[in-house]
Amino acid sequence: MLLLFSGGRVWRDGAFAEADVLVEEGRIAAVGSVPVTPGARVVDCRGLCMLPGLVDVHVHLREPGFTAKETVATGTAAAAHGGYTVVCPMPNLSPAPDTPEHLAVELEAIRRDAAVRTLPYAAITRGQKGRGELVDFEALAPLAVAFSDDGRGVQEGALMEEAMRRAAAVGKPIVAHCEAEELLCGGYIHDGEYCRAHGHKGISSESEWRQVERDIELAAKTGCRYHVCHVSTAESVALVRRAKARGLAVSCETAPHYLLLTDGDLREEGRFKMNPPLRSAADRAALREGIADGTIEVLATDHAPHTAAEKSRGLAGSAMG
Ligand SMILES: [Zn+2]
Repeated sequence: MLLLFSGGRVWRDGAFAEADVLVEEGRIAAVGSVPVTPGARVVDCRGLCMLPGLVDVHVHLREPGFTAKETVATGTAAAAHGGYTVVCPMPNLSPAPDTPEHLAVELEAIRRDAAVRTLPYAAITRGQKGRGELVDFEALAPLAVAFSDDGRGVQEGALMEEAMRRAAAVGKPIVAHCEAEELLCGGYIHDGEYCRAHGHKGISSESEWRQVERDIELAAKTGCRYHVCHVSTAESVALVRRAKARGLAVSCETAPHYLLLTDGDLREEGRFKMNPPLRSAADRAALREGIADGTIEVLATDHAPHTAAEKSRGLAGSAMG
């Protein structure tokens, strides 16, 4: 089977340039000015861009446990449709992937239904509770891309330190959802102007950056490779920037909604609710600056679907995602 993608703008060596791409039996055989090959099916790509497959390091596929929201089949089909060839699903599942047996349930769904390469995270704590008992890092390391309790912050510094020691020992990163629960105070949107003007309960920026600050010191102490999920505050960007200047193995991601929207765009409906929340214009500017100077090197979607009913209960009552 020969496929000739003709006349598109192809991303190569850091820039777009017009080129043809010849694919032979599912593999790229030539890029450049390719003469029409006899027997090839020609796809006219004029006016279109061609990129390498995109990678999303932060998605929620909801299987096993919450298949009314999403499944491996539907989530990875959507990923493929959007140009993604690798996705990494987070561990807030039932059962949570906190033992090889529990992770095997997820891996079986992936083997059976995934439309793109799907590399799951293992949980950091048993039951993905952000507290209590750590998982068996050695047993899970060969099966998982990294360790994360995404959906929850790891609440105790001592527990996170031990998790980092064990992750470092097996050569895997800790990928942290940073959220100090004692600073949440029932909040569900950013603690800013909109929140105060409309009588909502706010999530402070500090609930995020406090744990980023703590974890960076723990990463320095333990030598663990450390990645911060969905950075949303100016303070977090500054902390990661300083960590990188110190030469620490620290990285972070943000998501498109934090770059495009602010709490000034909020409306009284569930589609505007996610965790972390849409922040201020100053936070958005800091995130954009973080991308421009390389502090933020990953854009992830944090694709976190819920049912229509769960998203239809206004800002206060809807699910976050
Ligand atoms: Zn998260």
